[in-house]
Amino acid sequence: MSHRNEATAALKALSVATDACRECPLGAYATQSVFGEGPVGAVLMVVGEQPGDKEDLAGRPFVGPAGKLFDRAVAKLGWSREKLYVTNAVKHFKYELRGKRRVHKTPAQREAEACHHWLESEMELVQPRGYVALGATAARSLLGRPVAVMKERGRWIEDEATGRRVLVTLHPSALLRGDPAQREVAWKAWLKDLSVASSLMKKASVKQPAAKRPPATPAAGHARRRVRMVME
Ligand code: SF4
Repeated sequence: MSHRNEATAALKALSVATDACRECPLGAYATQSVFGEGPVGAVLMVVGEQPGDKEDLAGRPFVGPAGKLFDRAVAKLGWSREKLYVTNAVKHFKYELRGKRRVHKTPAQREAEACHHWLESEMELVQPRGYVALGATAARSLLGRPVAVMKERGRWIEDEATGRRVLVTLHPSALLRGDPAQREVAWKAWLKDLSVASSLMKKASVKQPAAKRPPATPAAGHARRRVRMVME
């Protein structure tokens, strides 16, 4: 089996494993886990916060209103969807019931930390050239530190520990929740942030990941061990 096929099979196995995960309380309340989607070797990995109500029911990321807004941005920027891998920092939906409505709740830091190894495994298998963090939870998960999104948005940030390039911007749900009078301004500013990744998207083709790479960090090594465990 080629390395790409092996990595694709490992991602599928991880997806099944997250569904059974109960390493934090969220797994017990959600309908199912929502794992990432996209090709191994995608140019960009786009990381959101957690699945929303629609994603939880569909079992797929970025299919709710925020995901549709992201799709509009992708179309506007002329990016091709097959060069993207989309996922979330937290794999189960966190919500509170208000009547019959399930209202989104921001995951606690301990929940994002419990879930981080799944994201680390995705990064290790997909090996994208850059990352887009949508919102503070994703940015913290990717950079390993608290991130002030409004201060650090719209430029590549290189994580010295891992060598990863991360572009931070708002989560699309922040645009949907924002002041309607400011929506057009916020949309243009968001597109401007995302467009920083356009040169990478336009030049690069989806690459084959390297067949064997030493773990860049202890976390990456942990991810590799976990992938092996899941595959066994
Ligand atoms: S949110 Fe993450 S850590 Fe928590 S149960 Fe789900 S997969 Fe496991």
